[in-house]
Amino acid sequence: RSKRRGRSQITVYSQEIAEEFRRATELEQALRRAIIADDVAVHFQPIVRLADGQIMGFEALARWHDAELGFVPPNVFITLAEERGFIDLLTEVLLKKAAATALRWPEDMYLSFNLSSAQLVDPMTSLSILAILNRAGLDPRRLELEITETAMMSDPDMAQKIVTELRAVGIKIALDDFGTGQSSLGRLRDFTFDKVKIDRAFVSEITRDRPSEHIIKAILAMCEGMDLAVIAEGIEEVEQAAKLIQLGCRLGQGYLYGKPIKASDTLRLIAANARPLEAIAIA
Ligand code: C2E
Ligand code: MG
Ligand code: MG
Ligand code: MG
Repeated sequence: RSKRRGRSQITVYSQEIAEEFRRATELEQALRRAIIADDVAVHFQPIVRLADGQIMGFEALARWHDAELGFVPPNVFITLAEERGFIDLLTEVLLKKAAATALRWPEDMYLSFNLSSAQLVDPMTSLSILAILNRAGLDPRRLELEITETAMMSDPDMAQKIVTELRAVGIKIALDDFGTGQSSLGRLRDFTFDKVKIDRAFVSEITRDRPSEHIIKAILAMCEGMDLAVIAEGIEEVEQAAKLIQLGCRLGQGYLYGKPIKASDTLRLIAANARPLEAIAIA
């Protein structure tokens, strides 16, 4: 009897797996069609100097809205493209678009772009990124690549090699979602980065939760000692910004300063954010 139940459970289970596989394959086909039809877009979220709200750069965030499936979150379709082996193609499409948009911004503004974990185990990554930048005509010094601690873990040596190659041509590397990965602080000792992005999980609790405040304090102190810039992610409230400024954090990003917007809207936002210093220089 128990044997029979066991078998029926296995049947149900394998049906679920088959169903999931079918759904993933459907999603894959829709995504491939969207890439070909140029339906995958890039939106941009401002990264600001906390002291005065000056826009320093934008993070590119992939967006895909399918007529039937609706809005598919980037986490979902990026992972799918990785699993199904066409993340390189998707990255090329996205970085090309993002770079073309960045070319229209003032030259001192930078573009931040997320690298996926699959790209940190691929020895061709630095070459292909550079080739895309060359073709787009974007100075590598205006590009920052965001990588996560977890993504570096599957092959730390290869990840290190890629990071070193990218930094050699002037591309900056930011450690994204800092504090939530499974890696140890040792990662920070062994690797050379330029920036650390403190995960939203800490920022959202900073005014309510003592441990989060202490963790942010510790990250800021550590990064200062290591000459790493720090960006606080996911700032939504004025009180959070005030607290971060008080703790000495200089850069931030979040809905308080701006949600991700379409490429065509970035110039308007930049104009509205126009620098007080430049205005003085012109006058
Ligand atoms: P991420 O790189 O950590 O990006 C930050 C995420 O937080 C974005 O979600 C952004 O829209 C959201 N966010 C920013 N400020 C706030 C805030 O104040 N409050 C809240 N609640 N959320 C905020 P999104 O766009 O859904 O992206 C999710 C993740 O998908 C990204 O996390 C990144 O890991 C990945 N992703 C997005 N675009 C790309 C891409 O072009 N390539 C790769 N490889 N990954 C991407
Ligand atoms: Mg990011
Ligand atoms: Mg992040
Ligand atoms: Mg994230």
